[in-house]
Amino acid sequence: MKKKYLLTPGPTPLPPEVCAAQAQPIIHHRTPQFQAILKEVSQGLKYVFQTENDVFILASSGTGAMEAAVANLLSAADTALTVEGGKFGQRWTEICQSYNINTEVLSVEWGRAVEPKKIEERLKANPKIKAVFTTLCETSTGVVNDIEAIGKIVKDTPAVLVVDAISGLGAIDLKTDAWFCDVVVSGSQKGLMLPPGLGFISLSPKAWKLVESSRSPRYYFDLRKAKKAQDKTDTPFTPAINLIIALNESLKMIKEDGLANVFLRHKKMADATREAVKAIGLELFAPTAPSDVVTAIKVPKDIDGEKLVKTMRDTYGVTIAGGQAELKGKIFRIAHMGYIEEFDIILCISCLEKVLFQMGYKFQLGIGVRAAEEVFLR
Ligand SMILES: *Cc1c(COP(=O)(O)O)cnc(C)c1O
Repeated sequence: MKKKYLLTPGPTPLPPEVCAAQAQPIIHHRTPQFQAILKEVSQGLKYVFQTENDVFILASSGTGAMEAAVANLLSAADTALTVEGGKFGQRWTEICQSYNINTEVLSVEWGRAVEPKKIEERLKANPKIKAVFTTLCETSTGVVNDIEAIGKIVKDTPAVLVVDAISGLGAIDLKTDAWFCDVVVSGSQKGLMLPPGLGFISLSPKAWKLVESSRSPRYYFDLRKAKKAQDKTDTPFTPAINLIIALNESLKMIKEDGLANVFLRHKKMADATREAVKAIGLELFAPTAPSDVVTAIKVPKDIDGEKLVKTMRDTYGVTIAGGQAELKGKIFRIAHMGYIEEFDIILCISCLEKVLFQMGYKFQLGIGVRAAEEVFLR
């Protein structure tokens, strides 16, 4: 027997209430019973997205919602600006290129946040840019971008601002309307504490104008169909019924805590994690703009980063994430997103210490756990 713990940036652990909601016998979706749930969920999503806009639910992972954004906003030969500071920023570029969008890339050093001024310069230099694709929390590097500042820039241009908030929504602040985010996409298996399988997308009136004029091919992800159905509290196709029922539960939990408290809890978990790893003598990968969603840590010299992650998982049952793409083996990532509390962090740090110690890394055993405890005692 081995007890298992999940501290990865998606999927994230499920609260028992969510597991139970999901496991109920299925109901039919074209019923007043399911309509009532859809209504509640739709209100709950608006609360979490901090928007008055409709939020649409897609039966896909988060990337499906990203593709829906591109396909519905732009047509072949339109121009877009993508901000690339990691693997998920790159995904915007790849999707745009798949739709033959003329894609300008703003490259940002991995581990840094984008300077909003750079976006302003690019928009000024090329007034043809119709959409700016950004990432709230770049999960591959642990960086949080200043979406509020970017929103202030993009709102005064003809372009729409698209934000990948797949990791971040329900964990850190994102004021969709107040920050002028025209399109926000997210997914179920991160801050929303659900299994994977749902994508979410919200669109402002400015974005809807593009949806109406886009000539890109789309069928399942045609948001005009989603809107027509949603206006009648319905869905265009069979929705992921049990996931939506579970979503209703997790949204209620978030509402009960209140967004402000949810953000505060994430900040505390992140502070404790950062202080703990620093006390152990490790370095943050993104010291200038670390997110409260996931902490990326440099693998110390002479330590095998992939083995560290593997040993924590296979020997001790504690799953964290390694680095992706060019960061493979160079960093490891501890997520503190969603259903994660104080003692999950303590346990994870304790396991990290144990494995580092066994691998011969020199530090004072217990010093990371102590640093985390001190944060929690503040
Ligand atoms: C997880 C993640 C994605 C990918 O979402 P999938 O659900 O795996 O398709 C995209 N962007 C960010 C920022 C993410 O964290």
